[in-house]
Amino acid sequence: MPLPNHPKGAILVEFGFPECRKCGNGHLVPLSDFGSQGASITYKAWICTNPQCLFNIKIRNGDLIINEPVSDGSMYTHRAQR
Ligand SMILES: [Zn+2]
Repeated sequence: MPLPNHPKGAILVEFGFPECRKCGNGHLVPLSDFGSQGASITYKAWICTNPQCLFNIKIRNGDLIINEPVSDGSMYTHRAQR
């Protein structure tokens, strides 16, 4: 759904991040974390910027985790209601 005054594809170029394949409205942005030893973990997770989507991919202990529910302390808490 391109915005007015934005040629198709302009948003992707602006952000420089890959488009979310699930919703098509957001972009996947990288998140970094810190390990238990305090070492930084660069680009540990990628998450969709669309609050209605929040599709995410992350690595934990070498395992690839796809679309795990977003928990408190992350970018958004929309789905934290329990
Ligand atoms: Zn998405």
